[in-house]
Amino acid sequence: MHDPEKGLLIVISGPSGVGKGTICRELFNKYDDIIYSVSTTTRKPRPGEVEGKHYFFTTEEEFQKLIAQDAFLEWAQVYGNYYGTPRQYVEEILQAGKDCILEIDIQGALQVKQKMPEGIFIFVVPPSLQELIRRITCRGTEDPSEIEKRMSQVSEEMSHLQDYDYIVVNDEVPSAVEQVRAIIVAERCRSSRM
Ligand code: 5GP
Repeated sequence: MHDPEKGLLIVISGPSGVGKGTICRELFNKYDDIIYSVSTTTRKPRPGEVEGKHYFFTTEEEFQKLIAQDAFLEWAQVYGNYYGTPRQYVEEILQAGKDCILEIDIQGALQVKQKMPEGIFIFVVPPSLQELIRRITCRGTEDPSEIEKRMSQVSEEMSHLQDYDYIVVNDEVPSAVEQVRAIIVAERCRSSRM
């Protein structure tokens, strides 16, 4: 049962390249009432990524220490790197009555669902597999072997659709952003949250 004093926890997942990051960024730019959780990762920063804005970049040794300290709400190894959601950061946002978005992979989403079943779980899918391949290739941030690694996971990822409350097809970004926004607004109006 959701505590009405607390903010909503919104979890967004979907295959690599589907545009989850773009959707979250647009939401963040357009609406200032949703806070984006910044994850910790052992992945190397991509050009243009800023420490503390896109991720907290760290070493594998430091990440293992944080796991041992139970500092993560969830963590997972994704495409060979570690990613985790800082527990305290998210708890403080929710306690302050603000809504918080986690953009995390499926393994992480399933962990959050066990701990916080009152969360809202949204899965973003591409209009087609061809379009997904086109987007991740055009993004130009991964080399061919990294693209192959990410694409080989897609059918496994798509098999978890039923674990999510909502499916959003990211055909056109503005429409997908408005769909996610509509889900959040509707969830705020749920009688059980009043
Ligand atoms: P990227 O390397 O492209 O930024 O992210 C790779 C994958 O890791 C994406 O599916 C993204 O959603 C996921 N991811 C990012 N942060 C976290 C996190 O804190 N926990 C988990 N489990 N996955 C994450």
